[in-house]
Amino acid sequence: MRALLGVKTQQLLSRVFRPSAAVRWRAAQTRLFCSSSPDEGKPRPSMLRHLTSKIKATGPIPVAEYMREVLTNPVTGYYVKNNMLGPDGDFITSPEISQIFGELLGVWIISEWMGAGGPKQLQLVELGPGKGSLASDVLRVFGQLRSVLGDVSVSLHLVEVSPALSQLQAQNLTRDRSREAGAEDEPVYRRGETAAGLPVSWYRRLDDVPTGFSIFLAHEFFDALPIHKFQRTEKGWREVMVDIDPGKPDQLRFVKAPSPTLASSTLVQADERRDHVEVCAEGGVIVQQLARRIAEDGGAALIADYGHDGNKTDTFRGFKGHQLHDVLASPGSADLTADVDFSYLRRMAGGGVACMGPVTQRTFLKNMGIDTRLQVLLRNCSDPSTRKQLISSYDMLTNPAKMGERFHFFSLLHHSRLAKPKTPEGLKLEKKSPAPLPVAGFTELSFS
Ligand code: SAH
Repeated sequence: MRALLGVKTQQLLSRVFRPSAAVRWRAAQTRLFCSSSPDEGKPRPSMLRHLTSKIKATGPIPVAEYMREVLTNPVTGYYVKNNMLGPDGDFITSPEISQIFGELLGVWIISEWMGAGGPKQLQLVELGPGKGSLASDVLRVFGQLRSVLGDVSVSLHLVEVSPALSQLQAQNLTRDRSREAGAEDEPVYRRGETAAGLPVSWYRRLDDVPTGFSIFLAHEFFDALPIHKFQRTEKGWREVMVDIDPGKPDQLRFVKAPSPTLASSTLVQADERRDHVEVCAEGGVIVQQLARRIAEDGGAALIADYGHDGNKTDTFRGFKGHQLHDVLASPGSADLTADVDFSYLRRMAGGGVACMGPVTQRTFLKNMGIDTRLQVLLRNCSDPSTRKQLISSYDMLTNPAKMGERFHFFSLLHHSRLAKPKTPEGLKLEKKSPAPLPVAGFTELSFS
């Protein structure tokens, strides 16, 4: 679809991307795994021991329970113990590749805030903020567009399960202006303030974030949530479980549950045609929470991740040292992930909100003006190595064979956002009533 994007979004872009705007380019690398933790390569006996004793006590465990334990067990979980992001960690994501990614998302957020009529309070809520780079780039755009935002009161709310990463986020976003808050059962576990004086709060769960007009961001968050796996058999759907290999007691293997489980009876759609399906029930619950909040308080959610629209089957995989890694080997030492099923998220969002996408990352970033931004930067940069890095970062984010088509953007919006603006009573229209402001990123941008 080609349409003139609201002039407003173009104006935002041109103000953020003035030639003089500061440019820092981060290392241009793909989801790069370069495991550098001190216990690199060694199995984590404590995680394996924990899992095998659990299985001995209760029998084989669902894949979802396995994934939850391996990634977010409060003591030995992969996310809880590691700083896995960045050139010195285990992998790199789009916000780490280039600041332009976060800047474009910052423009998207302000554009949606304007589309909602510019409410006086704006909560920016990020799920799984990693190192805090995306939030930091978004807030820099907020600073550049202060005159557009006016006297709106902005606050940042981070939902993060990892104490190690929350400290890193605090360092990046608030320097030394943050402190732990409250007891373990308090909803806010850390509070701080950015250099510009914006309040920042950390929570373990989305449910703990205060209500109010919010824009939610989730980048590479949903793929880290536990999935259930189901296999079609002659006797009906059976859940895939993790068991101890009887021949090798220190190794795990997949087995099929002999009879239906609660999950296999309730999570597979009656008209499912695939033979193997993965369902991220936790992701479904989070999307339902987002949808309810947006319907009640206004706002929008932008979800970006690798994924499909309900057509893929077995996508569960591990990554370690830049390589695919057996998901059952050395649990806790590698990242576990599964493609996000956007058709499932759309179904879980229900009719209370409008859904847009998924569109590919390439489409979204191009619609947001990444080409223009690149040209401006190149025009103002004479250093050959920086120019090379600019081009390779752009290529990594947008090339269909790299991140351009593997990653997708999906959005939940308040229904009023897409409704035609109401004409005040008694006012006669000379022409057709105005169309709603198009949603940036999901509509092709035209600079003509
Ligand atoms: N968004 C960042 C980081 C992606 S890695 C980026 O793109 O660079 C996944 C992030 O989600 C990490 O911050 C991890 O600690 C967090 N996370 C994983 N599972 C979570 C859960 N169940 N609740 C809250 N945060 C979670």
